[in-house]
Amino acid sequence: MADLAKEKATKVAAKKPCRKPVKKRLPRCRYTKEEMAAIFARFKEQRPEPKGELFHVNPYTLVVAVALSAQATDIGVNKATRHLFAVADTPEKMLALGEDKVRDYIKTIGLYKTKAKNVMALSQKIIDDFGGEVPNDRELLTTLPGVGRKTANVVVSMAFGQPTIAVDTHVFRIGNRMGMAPGKTPDDVEAILEKAIPEEYLYHAHHWLILHGRYTCKARSPECENCIIADICKAKEKTCSVPAAIIPIEEQVIPGM
Ligand code: SF4
Repeated sequence: MADLAKEKATKVAAKKPCRKPVKKRLPRCRYTKEEMAAIFARFKEQRPEPKGELFHVNPYTLVVAVALSAQATDIGVNKATRHLFAVADTPEKMLALGEDKVRDYIKTIGLYKTKAKNVMALSQKIIDDFGGEVPNDRELLTTLPGVGRKTANVVVSMAFGQPTIAVDTHVFRIGNRMGMAPGKTPDDVEAILEKAIPEEYLYHAHHWLILHGRYTCKARSPECENCIIADICKAKEKTCSVPAAIIPIEEQVIPGM
């Protein structure tokens, strides 16, 4: 009897079609290709060359700087890293310096004890797993202690010139508020934006969105009357549909980068 049941179960299992992994269906961007192109053309006209502010001298020091910048100001991080990177600009030198001294260099930065630990651990891993070189790969970067997806995106974009969308609080808010990327998680927002933003604008797209969120489409009350894309925007909260004139801003740094 038991053998019969076993045989039946084996037959059923054999007939079962093998299931492909279900691909997550993401919400769509609410803007047409033409609207997206118009939005980013205006962002580009307004801020032709957005730049990062975090001091670094090579990909390794960029990883360390971005990891230190979580919940800290860029100015504060730069003050500490200028001295730190003068004596340790490679993972080998950082390990030779030792955790106590690293902690001393960065003690003005919030969460410095945990961050010093992470700097030592990520330096060790870069040596052990990647031959002392920062990997030019987003997934591999996220295996480093203290490096999340946002940090990895910033690093591959700034150090290796790959277009990526690092989703911070501003990008997440704008994506959802405008309906440009209505995603429940930063990863969803990232995936929707990567698909919806015209390729020619992809490299600077997250810089423009961060700056737009910081200075115009603010969290509490968006300044729609100062917004250069007010006529295209489909946000429910929008209070004005007349776009502001575009005044080019030559030099503007992006916090956290
Ligand atoms: S119109 Fe208002 S809500 Fe829309 S993007 Fe501009 S500031 Fe944000």
